[in-house]
Amino acid sequence: MKEEILKALRQGSRVSGEKLGADIGISRTAVWKYITELRTEGYQIDSSPSKGYALLSAPDNLTPQEIKEGLRTSVLGREIIYYTEVSSTQDVAKSMAIQRAGEGTIIIAERQTGGQGRLGRKWESLPGSIALSIILRPPIHPSEAPLFTIVAGVAVAQAIEKATHLSPQLKWPNDIIAGGKKVGGILAEMSAEMDRVNYIVLGIGINVNTPRSSLPADIKAIATSLKEEGGKEISRVKLVQSILEELETLYEVFRTAGFEPIRQRWTVLSNTIGARVTVTSGEGERTEGIATEMDRDGALILRKGDGTLERVIAGDVSLRNS
Ligand code: ADP
Repeated sequence: MKEEILKALRQGSRVSGEKLGADIGISRTAVWKYITELRTEGYQIDSSPSKGYALLSAPDNLTPQEIKEGLRTSVLGREIIYYTEVSSTQDVAKSMAIQRAGEGTIIIAERQTGGQGRLGRKWESLPGSIALSIILRPPIHPSEAPLFTIVAGVAVAQAIEKATHLSPQLKWPNDIIAGGKKVGGILAEMSAEMDRVNYIVLGIGINVNTPRSSLPADIKAIATSLKEEGGKEISRVKLVQSILEELETLYEVFRTAGFEPIRQRWTVLSNTIGARVTVTSGEGERTEGIATEMDRDGALILRKGDGTLERVIAGDVSLRNS
C-alpha cells in the first residue's frame, strides 16, 4: 500500500487523499496513516486540506522503493532485500544463494555489525556508507571466478567517476582508492563444483558520506570517504543504481567479449601497474618489484630487481614511493 501511495505521489502533481484512497481501494484515514509512516521514514510530504498531498523530497535511504525508482537494469536488483541493520549482507546473500535466490538478487543494509574483508579481516561499516552484496550465477569455470573481483572493481570505479568529480583508482586486487586512501573494497566469494560455478557473491563496501570524525582511529591514516575527498555529500541511492548499471554492462561485456576489455579498462584505472610494490603473501612472504601488468587470469606480474618475472595470484600490495 505504502509503495503504491509513494508511486502515485511520484507522478509529480498534488493529489487528494480521497483520490489516492479511491485509486488504491483504501479509506482516507488509511491513506493518512501511510503518509505519516512515510514521513517518519524521511519523506517530506506537504499536505493542504483543500488540495491534498505533494511529495517534496525523498530520503537517501537504500530501501528497495528508492533503488528501484529509475533503476536502468534488467537483471541486477530485480530482487532487493533491505536491512536497516544486519550482521553481514555477504552472509545473508550466501545463504539466500544456497536457497536458490535468482541471479541479480541484491542484499543491502544501512549498517552492518559484522562486515568482512578478505582472509577473515574486519570491514568497518561506517555511518553514511554502502554495504551491498550481489548474487551472480555466471556460466563460467571456477578458475575464472576471481576475475569478478576485477569486474566489480571497474564497475564501482566507473560509478564513482559518474557520481562525483573524483578520479578513483583501483589497487590490486580489491581496493577502491580515492585521494590515495582506501574508500571501498570488494569481496568475491563463490561456491563451485569441479567444472562450474554455482554462484558468486560480490560484496561491495564504500564509505560514501562518512564524516572524517567517524573513521575509526586504527584506519584513519589509510581510509577516507567520497564526501571527504569530493567535499560534498552525494546520493547513496544514485551511486548504488549506477554501480548496478555499470556492473550489468560489464557483465555483458565479459560474457560476450571476455575479460580482455575489462583488463584494459582496469589497467587504466589502476594505481598498481607501473608502480614499485611489495607484495606480502598470506604466509607473510614478501616479494618486491615493479608491477608490469595484470595478466588475463587476473594475476599480478612483478619484475624483480634481478629482472626475472614473478606471477602473484594473491596477497597484499603496498605501493612504495620510489
Ligand atoms: P585489504 O585492504 O588488505 O585488501 P580487505 O579487503 O580484507 O583487506 O579489507 C579489510 C581491511 O580494510 C582491514 O584490515 C582494514 O585495514 C581496512 N578497512 C576496514 N574497514 C574499512 C573501511 N570502512 N574503510 C577503509 N578501510 C577499511
